[in-house]
Amino acid sequence: MSEKVITPAVEWVEKNKHRLIEISDKIWDYAELGLIEHKSAKLLSDELESHGFKLERGVAGMPTAFVASYGAGNPIIGVMAEYDALIGVSQKKLPNKSPVTEGGIGHGCGHNIHGVTALGAALAVKYIIQQQGLGGTIKFYGCPAEESGSGKAWMVRDGVFNNVDAVLSHHPGTMNYGSLKSSLANNSVKFHFYGKTSHAAGSPEQGRSALDAVELMNVGVNFLREHVVQDARIHYVIEAGGGQPNVVPDYARSWYLIRAPERDQVDQIYSRILKIAEGATLMTETRLEVEFIKAVYNKLPNKTLSTLVTENMKKIGPPNYSVEELEFTKKIAEQITTESKRESLRKTKRPNYESLMDTLLDWSFPDAWDEGEVSHGSTDVSDVSWMAPTMEFSTSTWVLGTPGHHWMNTAQSGTGVGHKSLIFASKVMATSVLDLIIKPELLKKAIDEFMQRTRGKKYTSPLPPEAKPPLDMWNK
Ligand SMILES: [Zn+2]
Repeated sequence: MSEKVITPAVEWVEKNKHRLIEISDKIWDYAELGLIEHKSAKLLSDELESHGFKLERGVAGMPTAFVASYGAGNPIIGVMAEYDALIGVSQKKLPNKSPVTEGGIGHGCGHNIHGVTALGAALAVKYIIQQQGLGGTIKFYGCPAEESGSGKAWMVRDGVFNNVDAVLSHHPGTMNYGSLKSSLANNSVKFHFYGKTSHAAGSPEQGRSALDAVELMNVGVNFLREHVVQDARIHYVIEAGGGQPNVVPDYARSWYLIRAPERDQVDQIYSRILKIAEGATLMTETRLEVEFIKAVYNKLPNKTLSTLVTENMKKIGPPNYSVEELEFTKKIAEQITTESKRESLRKTKRPNYESLMDTLLDWSFPDAWDEGEVSHGSTDVSDVSWMAPTMEFSTSTWVLGTPGHHWMNTAQSGTGVGHKSLIFASKVMATSVLDLIIKPELLKKAIDEFMQRTRGKKYTSPLPPEAKPPLDMWNK
């Protein structure tokens, strides 16, 4: 049974690779920011529709979020796609820094590949379901704004991931593996303070400074730092601080990001920060409005799914590179210093990482080594990981030591090495989804593990019910 299903899925992706690469390159060219990825979302959803998928567009109040389904009944296996880009990492398809637009937008996190890996997998699975009359449903989740709006957290809040049995996604990376690391939960919140203007020298007694409130709040939070858990992170910027010094500012605004390893730790720190903000208004006789931007959970790993994707990586094996592709990667590698490569390898905590110092592209398939570790970033994949067994695996797309969110990532994500990683990852995802469909015992094992990890803990959306996705965030 397995061979009858797996081999044709790999063949389908291989046969259609030129179309998949073309779509990935188009999204790379579009390079659209979160929640306004209109062309990218349309390209992916139209492609799915043209292959017979049933589309629901504009889900969870986001015009660029969608769900495409094919098949009938259980199990329901999900694949997730991201397609948002980043500011400041615009880059031509060249191995030296050369922006298309200075300071412009680019796919510095490789999300042009992220979405198309899932597309190739969903389509391959669809054809196998159709040809072989398999039961089960494949669901493609078009997830906007991973970088800036936590699209998946809104989709989870609105029930878009209810009833799915397992979820896979792929992120470009520098290694091939299914990470078991957790990630930090966070809250992103803006504090708007309102006071009264007056002549700062002539009639200061009549003024009530909103900027004072912002500053006093920051002072309070900086004292709070000594009384939070070790791995918590609190960052802020002052977005608005007044117009000119001789006018007492009647409006000022700060933007906070609060992170900690577990969701309830963020909640506790956040409730203390709210008290500090209130305190600042008392001290300054100003008024406060709190604008909740977004929030995510910490990520739950799943070892069963990690093992599944790693085994399929081994079966499919590494791609062959052309001389030009290898030349391109060498030129990129020359711009990464030994120190920064060592540091980025050390950070992975991979056993014997020093042995990779001379490796350009890592095509080994290690078993995940990082259970119990916590990444110091945050991701909205985490919220999905509380709904069903979830695995976002990475594949070797970028030269080892490539920093991340960098023009080097943009360059590699739109050229040969990125293309090869995309096709490889799509095959891994297609075969892994089919394994979950045709092997009920495997899916049960992943679900049992999920139940074990969530036992005694309840997911409550960290997004207040009245909060809405920040659709206009780029206009502010
Ligand atoms: Zn990313």
